[in-house]
Amino acid sequence: MDTFVAFVIAAVVLLFFIRRYLKDMRKKEEQAQQAVEKGKFHSDGFRAQHPHIDATYCIGCAACTSVCPEGDVLAILGGKAVIVNGHKCIGHSLCAEVCPVGAITMVMAGPSMGADMPHLTPAYETSIQNLFIAGELGGLALIKNAISQGLDCVDTIAGRITGLRSGGSAADVHDVLVVGAGPAGISASLRAIERKLNHITLDEGEIGGTVAKYPRQKLVMTSPVEFPMYGKFKKTELSKEELIAFWDKVLKRVDFNFRKGEKVDDIKKGDDGIFTVVTPKGQYRSHAVILALGRTGSPRKLGVKGEDLPKVMYRLIEADHYINKKLLVVGGGDSAVEAAMGLAHQVGNQVTLSYRKESFSRLKERNSQRLAESIRKGKLKVVFNSNPVEFKEDSAVLDVAGTAQEIPNDYVWIFAGGEPPNAFLKKIGVQFGMRDMTSEAGNEVRQRNAPPAGLGSPTLVAR
Ligand SMILES: Cc1cc2nc3c(=O)[nH]c(=O)nc-3n(C[C@H](O)[C@H](O)[C@H](O)COP(=O)(O)OP(=O)(O)OC[C@H]3O[C@@H](n4cnc5c(N)ncnc54)[C@H](O)[C@@H]3O)c2cc1C
Repeated sequence: MDTFVAFVIAAVVLLFFIRRYLKDMRKKEEQAQQAVEKGKFHSDGFRAQHPHIDATYCIGCAACTSVCPEGDVLAILGGKAVIVNGHKCIGHSLCAEVCPVGAITMVMAGPSMGADMPHLTPAYETSIQNLFIAGELGGLALIKNAISQGLDCVDTIAGRITGLRSGGSAADVHDVLVVGAGPAGISASLRAIERKLNHITLDEGEIGGTVAKYPRQKLVMTSPVEFPMYGKFKKTELSKEELIAFWDKVLKRVDFNFRKGEKVDDIKKGDDGIFTVVTPKGQYRSHAVILALGRTGSPRKLGVKGEDLPKVMYRLIEADHYINKKLLVVGGGDSAVEAAMGLAHQVGNQVTLSYRKESFSRLKERNSQRLAESIRKGKLKVVFNSNPVEFKEDSAVLDVAGTAQEIPNDYVWIFAGGEPPNAFLKKIGVQFGMRDMTSEAGNEVRQRNAPPAGLGSPTLVAR
């Protein structure tokens, strides 16, 4: 009898847990379905590097779905991970890193999207020997990628340096010249110091690149990465100011040969194989050159009447400098939305966000939620289907679905992306062309997290 009672109790407890597990699974499946439905509204697909899931290996453990900083890019459906909101992915690669069976590889946009990219070898060398491209200019965004590529380029140059120097070189010839002091350029410079190469780094601005231009106190998300002259940089979330302060600290400790405020206008390679790099302030010679220019380049203009007025700007760093003003922000990406929300939180501002499409489709989950909250609280107004047609001293004219609307205005910010420095690259002779970038995005993560023996190797797929 006692045995029977014990058996019944055990069965009840087991049933309780099974029921709870199934309820949990149902809830997760429902959430996944909702994410799928949301994702259907967005046809624009992936922006850059993104995960490819090999369902054969996926064990549905949901490690990938829980780690994504962008929210519901991935979901578990039918016991397998699937991509439900690809347009939100900005290529953090954390899903691939945590996948215990290596079922996820990072892949790049398909070859058609690589058409407007400089042609690069797997060692990031351009069509010109010893001229390298590191960081976002090569097509792969994110700080950690820029850092790794800067380091890799210098390692390749260090491996060739004896041969390069053996041609005989004057004292003024550097081993490596780095153009750009963003994450890729800083990493390349530090690696050059580490590898005892004679380097020089030039930037048309200051240290920090695009990061230095983020809005004040912007949260920077990154992954643990090996940082030259420092070791493993483990922080994954920090403010823009903290990241710049970290770089400053590391660079002050070493012999960083840096010239700020020098825009490189031209690069020529002589018959002796030595590069001459030309800036308005002088000329520099080097055996090898790393271009770490980023892709943001100069801001894209709208070509609208009055756009040259001083009140029209393309970057917002200090939102709190603007109070009690009528402000217009133009754009529908994260930068525009973050700027509009930053301005809307200052005292007395009336902020209008103008976007040419009928809804936002590429926002990070966090920004989507914060924006909905700001609109609900009446902190800012969004005008969809609208395009600026003229900026005047104290107003802005918007074309809203075919009707002109003039709104009072003190300042305008336009976030329409940047013009990548393709013209400069073409001028110096770098070849462009279709490039299959699938393996480039996949390599790093896949090597670190290969599937266990016996499972084989997941294939890379072009999208
Ligand atoms: C708003 C925003 C938010 C982002 N948030 C994140 C994030 O949270 N996490 C993340 O990992 N990534 C983020 N990114 C992406 C990240 O900032 C970039 O991928 C990264 O900065 C690229 O580094 P880079 O060194 O290749 O180029 P950049 O950082 O763009 O640096 C290029 C440098 O080259 C210099 N330069 C350009 N042309 C010349 C020239 N002719 N002569 C001399 N100097 C020149 C520029 O002045 C600049 O300093 C974000 C990007 C933006 C725009």
